[in-house]
Amino acid sequence: PNAIFGEARKNSAGVDLSDPLVREPLLGRLRAMESRTYEAAPTERSRGEHPIRRITSPHDDRIEVGIAHEATEGAIDRAMTAAAQAQPAWDALGGEARAALLDKAADLFEDERETFFSLCIREAGKTLPDAVLEVREAVDFLRYYASEARRQFSRPMPLPGPTGEVNELRLHGRGVWTCISPWNFPLAIFTGPVAAALAAGNAVMAKPAEQTPLIAGFALELMHKAGIPRAIVQLVPGDGKVGAALTSHRLTAGVAFTGSTDTARMIARSLADRTDGPIVPLVAETGGQNAMIVDSSALPEQVTRDVVASSFQSAGQRCSALRVLFVQDDVADDMIRMIAGAIQALAIGDPGKITTDVGPVIDAPARQALRRHLDWLDLHARKIIRAEVPVDLAEHGFFVPPAMYEIESLAQLTQENFGPVLHVVRWKSGQLDKVIEQINSTGYGLTLGLQSRIDTVAHYIEQHARVGNLYVNRNQIGAVVESQPFGGEGLSGTGPKAGGPHYVARFATERVTCIDT
Ligand code: GLU
Repeated sequence: PNAIFGEARKNSAGVDLSDPLVREPLLGRLRAMESRTYEAAPTERSRGEHPIRRITSPHDDRIEVGIAHEATEGAIDRAMTAAAQAQPAWDALGGEARAALLDKAADLFEDERETFFSLCIREAGKTLPDAVLEVREAVDFLRYYASEARRQFSRPMPLPGPTGEVNELRLHGRGVWTCISPWNFPLAIFTGPVAAALAAGNAVMAKPAEQTPLIAGFALELMHKAGIPRAIVQLVPGDGKVGAALTSHRLTAGVAFTGSTDTARMIARSLADRTDGPIVPLVAETGGQNAMIVDSSALPEQVTRDVVASSFQSAGQRCSALRVLFVQDDVADDMIRMIAGAIQALAIGDPGKITTDVGPVIDAPARQALRRHLDWLDLHARKIIRAEVPVDLAEHGFFVPPAMYEIESLAQLTQENFGPVLHVVRWKSGQLDKVIEQINSTGYGLTLGLQSRIDTVAHYIEQHARVGNLYVNRNQIGAVVESQPFGGEGLSGTGPKAGGPHYVARFATERVTCIDT
């Protein structure tokens, strides 16, 4: 037991891919799973036809991964009604009983992790190391939010009663939450908000991204197998129209959304316009325009390694990813040369191959937007490196070449570019305050990296940068549940932080009882 944090809860151990005795048999089993296909459907199916979406692999559109049956208006209404009816009993179970079911689901996720690895690779284009991290994070969310259910939802919190009365605060579920998740963490960020809403005593409509319904469908199967009632957590596959039907439904009592800032605003507007139900809270985790600041005291090899991981791991498709590198001008040439060399060495390819560093982006529209941005950079910026996508990959996969361009100022970038593109800006000694001003002026506030050996620089940045997660002398991706609660401010989201101590309570409503003696 730890004096401050209580009984230590361990995060999921993952898989040691550096050990060939572990890695090679695993790769063999994953190859054997390549012919499997999957099906996802609304938990509450309506009698009529459901529109069907074929899911193919981002790295090769000839590979069929499965089909998703999308929710119709009728299915959504039936699902909502069943969930709202079942929710009070789920709430009445209490934190301890719900936590036991979430822990059971975490165990099943670990038992089935290889199916998840295979789905992450085939449906979402993740590399195997990314897939391993993804499953760990999902398991960690389940167990951590279970522990939060035990901590906050098992017994009332006693409050002072200075005049002799008994005062107690209890947390309860609000009703039915709609959880809309993104394709870039199709398991972890699908599971996180769903687990939190369940832990807090709510029923959940879980709408995965239209690109990645199969992995979500499999995750829900395991939650049901763990004993969480089908009416309490339901899959509602579909596109943005399905999301809109859910958020505007009169029975939605809360919305958790991870995705673009524009969509978050749209949801907030539609919730504000509702006249036929409660006032509904929104928990939104959105985009970023994340920077890293490098000063002349930084260690060049470390900067190179951390920049490459921050910008190009997951093909840059993380909200936490580094987009704009600020390098102090007296070390800029050397630093840029080293980073360019490392980018040149990245292997682009099939995410199922262990040698691949950078897999595909998610789909054709994503590739198109990134290509447009690269073309714009060719005209308006100095090209440092734009790698080549091997020709045999280009025809059937959505690959974007890792690239680095030097720009004059952050203000030239008017939007987040969600892929493997790094921008570099030089800054002059003595102008750190101007750099911070530029970064703050984007209005986003998600991650910030700092590479410096000078403590006062770190303290200055800590005090002046308006960001959710500051990483000093390391990469700026891969926040760990409970240790680095994740989420931003301003245009980057509403908070509270995922994997942090305030998250689960935001899904609840507070009730106070005062009993006079
Ligand atoms: N939590 C993830 C990380 O730290 C990023 C989440 C996201 O991309 O939405 O890398």
